[in-house]
Amino acid sequence: MKTGQIHVQTENIFPIIKKFLYSDHEIFLRELVSNAVDASQKLKFFAKNGEFKGEMGELKVEVILDKEEKTLTIRDRGIGMTAEEIDKYINQIAFSGAEEFVEKYKGTEGVEQIIGHFGLGFYSAFMVSEKVQIRTLARHDGAQAVQWESNGSPEYTITNIDKIDRGTDIVMYINEDSIEFLEKNRIEEVLTKYCKFLPIPIVFGTKTEYIDSPEGEKDENDKVKRVAIEVENQVNNPEPAWTKAPVDLKQEDYDSFYRELYPMTFEQPLFHIHLNVDYPFNLTGILYFPKIKENVEVQRNKINLYSNQVFITDSVAEIVPEFLTLLHGVIDSPDIPLNVSRSYLQSDGNVKKISSHITKKVSDKLAEMFKNDRADFEAKWDDLQVFVQYGTLTDEKFAEKAKAFTLVKTSEGKYYTLEELKEKVAPLQTDKNNKVVFLYTPSVEEHFTFVKKAKERGYEVLEMNGPLVPHWISKMEQAMENISFTRVDADTLDKLISKSDEIPSKLSKEDEEKLKGIFEGVVSKDKFTVQMESMSSDESPILITQPEFIRRMMEQQKMGGGGFYGAFPEMYNLVVNANHPTIEAILTKESANQTENAKYLADLAMLSQGMLKGEPLDAFIEKSLKNLN
Ligand code: ADP
Repeated sequence: MKTGQIHVQTENIFPIIKKFLYSDHEIFLRELVSNAVDASQKLKFFAKNGEFKGEMGELKVEVILDKEEKTLTIRDRGIGMTAEEIDKYINQIAFSGAEEFVEKYKGTEGVEQIIGHFGLGFYSAFMVSEKVQIRTLARHDGAQAVQWESNGSPEYTITNIDKIDRGTDIVMYINEDSIEFLEKNRIEEVLTKYCKFLPIPIVFGTKTEYIDSPEGEKDENDKVKRVAIEVENQVNNPEPAWTKAPVDLKQEDYDSFYRELYPMTFEQPLFHIHLNVDYPFNLTGILYFPKIKENVEVQRNKINLYSNQVFITDSVAEIVPEFLTLLHGVIDSPDIPLNVSRSYLQSDGNVKKISSHITKKVSDKLAEMFKNDRADFEAKWDDLQVFVQYGTLTDEKFAEKAKAFTLVKTSEGKYYTLEELKEKVAPLQTDKNNKVVFLYTPSVEEHFTFVKKAKERGYEVLEMNGPLVPHWISKMEQAMENISFTRVDADTLDKLISKSDEIPSKLSKEDEEKLKGIFEGVVSKDKFTVQMESMSSDESPILITQPEFIRRMMEQQKMGGGGFYGAFPEMYNLVVNANHPTIEAILTKESANQTENAKYLADLAMLSQGMLKGEPLDAFIEKSLKNLN
């Protein structure tokens, strides 16, 4: 047997790094600006622990675009590098100076602010450059400034140079394929995306516009000399709200930070949660609860993930439970591993802890608001409902806590928890099987007659709408004992909450059969099943119902889930009240009039459900007008 070591040759690996290191080339800017911020933070750190005694000056990072020279320069006033340091940190690919630094000063305050350890950060410059120079002057007294230069082949040169200012310039000579990064707007876009909240001021300067010199001065080639116009703009807010202590922030600070995050959103959020954990993992952030309406998808994926104030991604699906992706805001955690695959993220121990911590914070906040100011909570409920139902359906831990603050709204606009409602309606709404039946409607307006009749019996009717209601109802029926939900149009009033056995019919079996035949002759057989029912006299003569379970199947189908879509044709019951005088009267009419009356009554039932449309509606109106004469 022979054992050996695989040798990695830099010549081979370099082109690979250059090409495939990051699929998204724009992130070279994030890497280099992060390095510049790190260099500045390290200087602050050394000033604090006494290793650096010199003048610190104003620490800022400049990004300078020179279109004429085709260069992009990242300039910092940080610790700089000696020739030895360049050799150690730059010439050895994949040796992370940031990691070494954090290891060395572990436990010292301030060290956690070092960004680093993304991996091969600096070399990402070669994705967009044909040549890169590092021009740097280290922090030590009497240090010799040096320039490192490489064109992306593994060869480099180091030369001594004159440089007055402490710190580092990374000068990138942008390659042919990457000229987009010589556009002011493009650089601004990338800086805004990744650097908007970096902790050191980031200034973007352009030398993009050249004009002929005013006096027509000539250069050595006898051409009119050109003068660059420089513009400088700070692109970041080094102290975003989430990095501050909650006690130092007022409501308007949270509001204005929301606008800073989403300049294009006009709607204000309902409220926020400020996250602030330093053990057993580091996590800060602000989560906002938006007003969530019907269209859940457009609201999703607005949470931005940061690591030490560097933007990482706006897709946190692998980090927080699904329902929390409806929230907006920022999560910042250096403890979320960034260089692992997305699928691996979910199984990471820290990520799991962070995820359950956030879930707990969210449910605690809602419970606290419910307890402290119920009226205010109720006022927000309509906008919160979808979120809470989503959480209840997809996260068991959240579902458990949400019981205490999940509300339902009655047709009169009063709010109850299901437990409260159960207690309130039990006396009148318990059926013969000892189940408390909650009646509901998606719209009081559309079900006006049903709701009115139910209320006349002393029943409460809930108004419930929203994309998740059918699923949520089923879940509640499983979770709570002895309750069920029935939509007001699911059956006749007597049978919505069936109390006792049948009411006797005033008609003979033959008469009932005869009437049934007449009504079957006036409606479509594919859509309606005619049912003769002996109902109370306060019920309507005729009504259209749809059995609860059929309707729910169809609704859940529409939302996705289940599996019988199409197996259920849209079917209704045409329920005829055998005990109603109007119905009984039909029997005494002549044959032609019987059909006409039955048709008219069936049309009325459809009309009250909004089901009469087009030609049948037109015919109905014509007939009604004729009857007036
Ligand atoms: P990482 O940031 O993960 O350490 P990089 O390849 O981006 O990896 O950088 C390697 C090292 O080079 C850094 O850790 C740092 O020591 C040094 N370095 C890079 N950029 C600068 C800079 N602007 N000023 C001082 N040192 C720097």
